[in-house]
Amino acid sequence: MAAGEIERLVRLLAKLPGLGQRSAQRAALAMLKRRDTVMLPLAEALAACARNVHPCSVCGNLDTVQPCAICRDPARDALTLCVVAELEDLWALERAGGIFAGRYHVLGGTLKALDGIGPEDLGVDRLLRRVEEQGVTEVILALGATVDGQTTSHYLAERLQPLGCTVTRLGRGVPVGGELTYLDEGTLEAALRARQRVA
Ligand SMILES: [Zn+2]
Repeated sequence: MAAGEIERLVRLLAKLPGLGQRSAQRAALAMLKRRDTVMLPLAEALAACARNVHPCSVCGNLDTVQPCAICRDPARDALTLCVVAELEDLWALERAGGIFAGRYHVLGGTLKALDGIGPEDLGVDRLLRRVEEQGVTEVILALGATVDGQTTSHYLAERLQPLGCTVTRLGRGVPVGGELTYLDEGTLEAALRARQRVA
């Protein structure tokens, strides 16, 4: 392996999901070969994102404005919240284009007792406070059909029930073990339309 600088680049790239040592080397080499068209623009994009993109203090979405564009949009119903595990799930619903006109709450994960991820790590109190203070009327639990997603849904439904809002979860169409980001738009829309009341 060549110079220290390249080694450092490969080591950092290998920390990314889906990139092992070998694919990190290939990515580094591809960038070095395309200095002007890939490497320098990428370096600028990385620096700009690191500088300007931050989590929304209301919903956990990532944006360059605070609160995020979705939370600021007066056309979106502030009284209907869709709770998702990860930002990719929010992107999946938004990609589906206008099927959901409410606002979001991004947990940043699901409950995982084995990994020691509890409600305090997911900002559950922030969600409950938001529901209570803003008088949210419906919370849609869109946490996928994985075991962890289901466990988290049950837990949240129990915590939300005393607040008097309607709690629903996505209907049929979400395959067992499936995560939202892998679903096509039609399936997502059908699951959203067929949502079922759980509390
Ligand atoms: Zn937001």
